[in-house]
Amino acid sequence: MLEGSAVPKVRVRAVNDGSIREDGAYVLYWMVANRRYDYNYSLERAVEWAKELGKPLLILEALRVGYRWASDRLHAFVIQGMRDNAARLESRAVTYYPYLERSEGEGKGLLAALAEKACVVVTDDFPAFFLPRMISSAGKRLAVRLEAIDGNGLLPMRATDKVYARAHDFRRHLQRTMPDAIYEYPKQDPLRALELPTLAVPKTILERWPAASTEELEDPPLASLPIDHDVGVVDLEGGGVAGRARARDFLDERLAGYAEGRNHPDEDAASGLSPYLHFGHVSAHAVVRELANRESWEPDVLEPSSAGKREGWWKMSTPAEAFLDELITWREVGFNMCALRPDDYDAYESLPDWVQKNFDAHAGDPREHVYTLEQFERAKTHDEIWNAAQRELVTTGRMHNYLRMLWGKKILEWTCSPRDALDVMIELNNKYALDGRNPNSYSGIFWCLGRYDRAWGPERPIFGKVRFMSSDSTRRKLRLSPYLEKYGESAQLSLS
Ligand SMILES: Cc1cc2nc3c(=O)[nH]c(=O)nc-3n(C[C@H](O)[C@H](O)[C@H](O)COP(=O)(O)OP(=O)(O)OC[C@H]3O[C@@H](n4cnc5c(N)ncnc54)[C@H](O)[C@@H]3O)c2cc1C
Repeated sequence: MLEGSAVPKVRVRAVNDGSIREDGAYVLYWMVANRRYDYNYSLERAVEWAKELGKPLLILEALRVGYRWASDRLHAFVIQGMRDNAARLESRAVTYYPYLERSEGEGKGLLAALAEKACVVVTDDFPAFFLPRMISSAGKRLAVRLEAIDGNGLLPMRATDKVYARAHDFRRHLQRTMPDAIYEYPKQDPLRALELPTLAVPKTILERWPAASTEELEDPPLASLPIDHDVGVVDLEGGGVAGRARARDFLDERLAGYAEGRNHPDEDAASGLSPYLHFGHVSAHAVVRELANRESWEPDVLEPSSAGKREGWWKMSTPAEAFLDELITWREVGFNMCALRPDDYDAYESLPDWVQKNFDAHAGDPREHVYTLEQFERAKTHDEIWNAAQRELVTTGRMHNYLRMLWGKKILEWTCSPRDALDVMIELNNKYALDGRNPNSYSGIFWCLGRYDRAWGPERPIFGKVRFMSSDSTRRKLRLSPYLEKYGESAQLSLS
């Protein structure tokens, strides 16, 4: 069974117990989360199978319409990625089949029809939103083997069975295991010098599920799709080409100011990579390698440690270490939670006991301001900074990291209960943010409610011992005047 695979076993999950069909016509890679052709373990695994079996490799990248929060904004970003994939894969020894669903349910049956002739189906293991359900139900329906490959982060999600309750504990785990894990790296170009038999997508399939044309990928027919047109397309271009350019620009021009500037909304100090990481257009492995090259860094300097220190362990420059702490520790602790608690990572009950008891004790506290979802959505609170952050989210699909924390804390303060706050945060974050619907959406939102944090004093109304944040101190501490001007009252909210 694929002896000598370069994809670490711990990243390979058999979704069903279907068998390998050696007389199948091709190997099928069903690309659902790692929407890229470089540093992609799933693609690498599919290539290994195709080579082993001497079969063509067919890559299906599909985009459904019938999922919650589907909108022009999200579709445009994903389709820009499909356009890049189509352009790159055209000259490779694989068949790329981009499919855009036009009406709800139209794509039903496509995977099963392709799988009927497949030797094996490989897909991406992504632990949040509708993807785990979709993959598990595909596993039940397919007779052929379905493998889900974890290409999400530097540490495999299933290398531990412990759910980490604090970033500090996860950092310690990381510092113990990374010195080995860092040597396991996906290939930069798994298709390089690849020779495989080729094939055309079967005609009967294309008649029923036509492939998206180059024109459609360039200029997608968004208006004709049954998706939310009020959440409009934003300036940020999706896809691996734009994502890699952004990573290079950040590492070359802005990394030096990252540690100091990241908290200030007026500085463009952060990488802006989260939408590309979310849709798999850019791989975290690729970013770490680029960073390591610029730092002239070699992995053999790493030594296992249980100290969990935030600085100094990587033996890189201060800004590089600050960046890695976000890109690896904070990003991957979210994947740890979603992968190991698939049934409740997004439920209020997943909050630590002390937090739930704390909120129970403050359930009856008077609330000076209470807003409805609609008031929040339209940035109609009394607070200038909060409204500006919300307008940034609605108009650009992004929100500055520091303000995102304040945004969530204030929703907790201005709703009737922490459960209501959770619902409002999930709805607005996942609807408008390009990087929403990600394990880190839930880490960030639940962080505002106390996950990954400790108890803080003094005990306050509504928050109890959960960390409090205030707009006044934000205004005092941060450089944000141009930000407030840009996203002030006059910023157009494109809400109908
Ligand atoms: C209420 C709230 C909601 C959030 N929702 C999301 C979300 O939907 N999607 C999302 O990816 N992140 C979310 N975050 C985390 C964080 O705000 C973003 O990851 C970060 O702002 C993205 O900007 P960047 O790519 O420029 O980050 P950078 O500072 O350049 O960091 C590099 C990468 O590290 C990861 N990262 C950075 N900060 C965090 C963090 N605090 N937690 C987890 N990972 C982090 C991201 O993958 C990010 O792209 C949320 C935080 C809060 C408080």
